[in-house]
Amino acid sequence: MAMIIDGKALAKSIREDITKEIGTLNYQPTLAVVLVGTDPASATYVSMKEKACLEVGIASQAHRLAADVSQRELMMLITRLNADPAVNGILVQIPLPRQLDQTAIFGAIRRDKDVDGFHPMNVGLLNLGLSGALLPCTPAGVMEMLQSINYRLKGKHVVVVGRSNVVGKPMSTLFLLADATVTICHRYTENLGLYTRQADVLVVAVGKTNLITGDMVKPGAVVIDVGTNRVGSKLVGDVVYEDVKEVAAYITPVPGGVGPMTIAMLLKNTLLAAKMQHA
Ligand code: NAD
Repeated sequence: MAMIIDGKALAKSIREDITKEIGTLNYQPTLAVVLVGTDPASATYVSMKEKACLEVGIASQAHRLAADVSQRELMMLITRLNADPAVNGILVQIPLPRQLDQTAIFGAIRRDKDVDGFHPMNVGLLNLGLSGALLPCTPAGVMEMLQSINYRLKGKHVVVVGRSNVVGKPMSTLFLLADATVTICHRYTENLGLYTRQADVLVVAVGKTNLITGDMVKPGAVVIDVGTNRVGSKLVGDVVYEDVKEVAAYITPVPGGVGPMTIAMLLKNTLLAAKMQHA
């Protein structure tokens, strides 16, 4: 029976540390959150992030734009936020409507205000293993979860299912930098179970319910479920939790696992960005 890695509790203790550190500063870190359109899931994420900011003493500014906003208008807002010394972090909530060029927008955010870690310079620093990068929040949160159980990654086989720029790819890079052997699986991987069964650590970031069943997990593995899927009014992951918890040594629940850690890492990045700018 697996031990649960309680992301909610871990995130709470990280938020407490952030609150304490902010109490020692002679300025208040500020996060600007840009929300384009009225997608209900994005609106919920944005209000969760705003609430989390306020709780730790980060000021938050919400910039809500119409769904048909032009690239030029959004770029002008980013230019303004980049130049505003009172704004330490800028987050543009994704997904963006089709008319907007996401890559150009991420590239326009000042690198040291890029609290999502999506700017090509931050991605490059991470890939080169150089210091000074703001790390993408979800992968950084997963690393903290593994640290919380004192897991030693060196030489271990980690299998990451999903290869997105937001989760899978940076996650795999962090594991490589921690000296793990990394296998990346994706939608065209044939016989997924062949790989997942070899994982000492299995990270699943796909967005498909019931993708990982108990027979696809090596006994004693650590299973991190990043997936979030709405089933009716319930939020579930990509892993069949009830089955996999019988096989794994550690497992993260959904909800209450990676999700709260992602938000905690956003707060941590905002504090880090503010400190870099005030240094
Ligand atoms: P994405 O859609 O950009 O990427 C999904 C990845 O899954 C792709 O690389 C694709 O190749 C792979 N994939 C699709 N079907 C597959 C299959 N059958 N077998 C193996 N791989 C397959 O999604 P994303 O942004 O990386 O997010 C992934 C999931 O994680 C989603 O459910 C998302 O909601 C969730 N998520 C959660 C958090 C959090 O904080 N908890 C943060 C980010 C994303």
